[in-house]
Parts: sequence; structure tokens; C-alpha cells
Amino acid sequence: MPTVGGMTPFIYNGAPGRVVFGFGVIAQTPDEVRAQGCRRALVLSTPQQADAARDLSERLGELSVGVFTEATMHTPIDVTERAMALVRQTQADCTVALGGGSTTGLGKAIALRTDLIQIVIPTTYAGSEATPILGETVDNLKTTQRGPKILPEVILYDVDLTLTLPVGLSATSGMNAIAHAVEGLYAQDANPIVSLIAEEGVRALGAALPRIVRDPMNREARSDALYGAWACGVVLGSAGMALHHKLCHTLGGTFDLPHANVHTVVLPHAAAYNAAAAPLAMARIARALGVTDAPRGLHDLARSLNAPLSLREIGMPESGLDRAADLASSNPYWNPRPIERDAIRALLDDAYFGRQPAATIPSPKAAHA
Ligand code: NAD
Repeated sequence: MPTVGGMTPFIYNGAPGRVVFGFGVIAQTPDEVRAQGCRRALVLSTPQQADAARDLSERLGELSVGVFTEATMHTPIDVTERAMALVRQTQADCTVALGGGSTTGLGKAIALRTDLIQIVIPTTYAGSEATPILGETVDNLKTTQRGPKILPEVILYDVDLTLTLPVGLSATSGMNAIAHAVEGLYAQDANPIVSLIAEEGVRALGAALPRIVRDPMNREARSDALYGAWACGVVLGSAGMALHHKLCHTLGGTFDLPHANVHTVVLPHAAAYNAAAAPLAMARIARALGVTDAPRGLHDLARSLNAPLSLREIGMPESGLDRAADLASSNPYWNPRPIERDAIRALLDDAYFGRQPAATIPSPKAAHA
């Protein structure tokens, strides 16, 4: 590729959006609703976070027109239709999504249909709040789309809300976020700004997650992790994803495996698959984690968090590995290393048994990362 000075030419699409980050910022929700010119907010949550959603609705007072607490993983369209009925009935003029990627997904699905303003208050590290991407499920089939209506207008990152995120989910949700940054670093449309953000996201989460596992109420570590999650979400929203995200999409959708767990298990193996083809990305990931080998460093990080390491332990049937390899290699897509069916099958085998990835052969190029 021709270069300008030392830079490889690139295109950068910045996602607009307002971010308020801090402790206790949920208290600012009424002001943020008003600042968007809205007066009729519908609060969204999962059933598990219904109490918090009701509290928020009370806090909003006359600015709230109600609460919808049925948000579900992978945004099933029947749930969206029930929420849409409430949107019409209450004449809501914005949504306030309080929760993880599942709740954010519902807010996005509503915005896609109505262009209502979205205010998102994330409580996991999934990063969906920073992306114009929506995955919806109809009859167990998940389809993903991008579009400007989908991107939330306001994100309120309240560190205090993440203190209750269970340690196991903190670890896997954090690894899910790191996966966005890893793939952003070797994306076809990678660019220097997004790579800076990606490396910083891996660094912040890589340092914070072990501290959270040791001490879940550590507010400093929680704030570093949430900051890292935002950075990784920005990367996901700005750069195209490759093998890792496609594999997780296939495994999660076809075998109904929990989203963040699949990301955690697959990431070291997807990185190992791409390592020789993306040496600069690997060097930056390794630098961010303070290790010498990126795929091994990711595996060791997951292990240190007591996170799942194998597909076997998260419910994947061994009999499904061939089908998964077929599915993952049937639709061609861009990846730093070409998608080869047998190599993908071997990757899945390593992930199924939770093997440590083989050491990466050092590349002279990596020294210039
Ligand atoms: P989730 O939103 O499904 O949350 C998991 C569970 O944890 C839920 O029961 C939730 O109520 C609970 N929970 C969340 N935060 C909590 C907290 N602080 N304290 C206590 N309980 C809490 O999980 P997730 O991993 O954040 O989201 C997964 C979904 O997000 C998937 O459907 C995935 O496809 C989607 N996603 C989309 C994007 C995108 O850009 N479109 C990005 C990442 C994830």
C-alpha cells in the first residue's frame, strides 16, 4: 500500500455522541433527558435489573412515562414488538436503557424503528452503547446491521452501577470488550487513532480486571475497567471486525452459548490464528498486557480471572465442532489470514479443550509496533 510520509493512508469515521463518565452520574439522568429536548422517557431493563429501572423511573418523576423490563439477550424481535406497543401507547420521546448489551440492544431496536433519542446507562463492559451496530434475532436467526439511527446519543457511565456486576460476568464481559480492541488493531480499516484507543482499552482492562476479581468493590479498578470498556466499544463502533467476532456470532447463535463466555474462550485462539498475519497488532496487544506473546497473554489473563477457558465447559457439544467449522468458513469475509476450513476446525478443537495457544513465532516487523 502506498504511504504518505510514515503513515499508511486511512479513513476514520468518528461516531458522534455525548459521554458523561464518573461516580453517581445516574443522578444526572433527568438533566440529560431535558438537555435532549425530551419530556417522555421510557426506561428499559432486563427482568433481573427491574428494581433499578423502577428506581430510575421514580428519579425521573414526571419525565418518565413508564418502565419496560423484558430486555433479553440477542434482541429477539417479539420482545421489541412488545416494547414498541408501549412506546406507542405512552408516546415516549426517548428511551433510557439501564443495563448491559441486551438492554442497550432493545433501545437500539426501538430507535431503528422510531429514531427516538437513546440515553444509555451501561452496567457491563460489553461496549454496545458506543456502536451503531444492532444484532436482532428472528426465529433463532441473528442478523446484524449498522446505521446512524442505531447509535445512542448519550452515554452515562456510572462506575457505581458496575460494583454489583458479578465477578464472573465482570471477567467475561471485560474479555468481550478486549476482543473488540484486538480485532480493531488488525482490522482491514484499522487507523492510527482507533489503534491508539484499542491499545489503551486493552491496557486499562488488562490491568483492572485482575484487581476486580480480587476485590470486586474496588472503585478505582472498576472505573479503570469501565473506561477501558468505553475505549473498546469505540473501537467496535469504528473498525470492522473479523474472524473472532464471526466465530462468536456463529457459536453463540447456533449453539445458544452465553455471549461474553464465548468471547472469552475463543479470543486467545482467534488471536493465535491471526498472529503471524498481524504481527504489529500482536505486538501492541502484548505491550498493552505487559507480556511477550499476545495470544498466550490473553489466555493467561482469562485464566488469572478464573474465567472459562474451554467451549466444553460453557455448554458447546463436541459433536457441533464440524458444523461450526463449516458455518464459520462458508461465507467469505475479510480476515488478516485467509479463512481455511481445516485450520478453523483445529482452532475450534483448541478452544473446545481450552488448550494454551502455541507460542507465536516472533516477527521482525513486530519490533516496529
Ligand atoms: P447482558 O446485558 O445480557 O447482561 C447479563 C446479565 O447481567 C443480565 O441479567 C443483566 O441484567 C445482568 N447485569 C448487567 N449489569 C449488571 C450489574 N451491574 N449488576 C448486576 N447484574 C447486572 O450482558 P452483556 O454481555 O452486557 O450483553 C450481551 C448482549 O449484548 C448480546 O446480545 C450481544 O450480542 C450484545 N452486544 C452487542 C454489541 C453491539 O455493538 N451491538 C456489543 C456487545 C454486545
